[in-house]
Amino acid sequence: MSFSKLQLNEPILKAIKLCGYAAPTPIQEQAIPKALAGQDLIATAQTGTGKTAAFVLPALQRLSVPSKSTGRSKGPRVLVLTPTRELANQVTAAVSTYGKFMRIRSGAILGGMPYFEQQRLLSQPVDLIVATPGRLMDHMERGRIDFSRLEILVLDEADRMLDMGFSEAVDTIAAATPASRQTLMFTATMDSAMAKLAQRLLKDPVRVEIAGKKTTLEAIEQRLHAADDMQHKNRILNHLISDSAMTRAIIFSSTKRNADQLAGELSAQGHSAAALHGDMNQNARNRTIMNMRRGKIRLLVATDVAARGLDVAGITHVINYDLPKNAEDYVHRIGRTGRAGASGIAISFASFREMDSLRSIERYIGQSIPQQVIPGLEPARPLRRSTGGSSSRPAQSAGRRGTPSSGRRYSSNPASPRPFWSKSDRKGSSEDGYTREKKWDAKRQGGKIGDYRFSKVR
Ligand code: AMP
Repeated sequence: MSFSKLQLNEPILKAIKLCGYAAPTPIQEQAIPKALAGQDLIATAQTGTGKTAAFVLPALQRLSVPSKSTGRSKGPRVLVLTPTRELANQVTAAVSTYGKFMRIRSGAILGGMPYFEQQRLLSQPVDLIVATPGRLMDHMERGRIDFSRLEILVLDEADRMLDMGFSEAVDTIAAATPASRQTLMFTATMDSAMAKLAQRLLKDPVRVEIAGKKTTLEAIEQRLHAADDMQHKNRILNHLISDSAMTRAIIFSSTKRNADQLAGELSAQGHSAAALHGDMNQNARNRTIMNMRRGKIRLLVATDVAARGLDVAGITHVINYDLPKNAEDYVHRIGRTGRAGASGIAISFASFREMDSLRSIERYIGQSIPQQVIPGLEPARPLRRSTGGSSSRPAQSAGRRGTPSSGRRYSSNPASPRPFWSKSDRKGSSEDGYTREKKWDAKRQGGKIGDYRFSKVR
């Protein structure tokens, strides 16, 4: 299918052509016609599938027609809610890219940025606003925003929004908009909490479901290295980053402090490296992402929250220096590479004490991550029986194959899997990455997690 079949108008098609997209992605092909027809939509699609354009393009098409509102409202006609600032920035950038040949007044309302510019944005007529719920509520409470002419409400990464505790805020924001609005809900996962949200906010929605995580992950080669300790991880990392095929990599660390430390050590060794985490102010975060996009940074050491929604083209490798505790975060992390049809490599380090996380991840993705051993950097203690020192032999499965929905987090007992969408599981994921990072930091300071220093690689 070509974009011209989607009945988008000329300025939008011209902008798409400029992006070099040959054809709509499956989510675009399915969601755009329904959204253009004015239907409410529940779209299940992961990041990296082209989901942003799937709602931005129909929204722009709507904005190409003058507002039918007869009132004097200057408020937005389209509102996109996103869980994180990074994602909001990316959606805002996508609006500028796809709306390049249209006269669209758009902007972002997000935390961590000065109020002044946002007040100015809201004091003038505006067509489209991308916002994080917290800051938007702030402006609403001060009476600075008028939703009376709102036509489309988009909930992007709605599952993340709930996980991050924005459920009430989303309800309040939706209640402030006209009941006649069209609502488009995009989510990576569908569970009972999402179904309830959809029931509250959507009218007769049509469902569009695109390739689950397994298909999305197909473009990504996953590898696992058993590591005895930090020093061993550092030696493996040092070996991997000497590969010239690694042109742009994100290295995930579980804490902000370690992200800083690791980035500092890598820079000291002469690598173009930088950290990205939630303690950095928004301008510093934006600058770092921009430098990564421009190729000035080759190794970005990031924490989960800061990297969520991060869309930098050409990430060749994702390295999980520490495994995430939450299996869904694993999918989000490695989805930074292998985007929009490109291939990518995701390499995870796992020490013996990360075995529970590893099992949980493998059960969630429904496959065993093939283990590799670098000659000379063999682990003293193999993670599982089948490693055998081979350089690329797949490891024995730690979970049931082909059952991605049987994931159970934090479990060391593979015998009693529970569906990943079960209530208690969602409870496990309701702690957002930022809180997890904080707890992790606190534990470390109490000395419970042990020494986590990155020592210089010889
Ligand atoms: P998203 O899932 O929205 O984060 O998009 C992931 C990446 O896919 C972004 O870098 C987009 O620029 C890119 N993209 C979106 N639509 C297409 C398309 N039809 N063809 C190729 N790339 C696309």
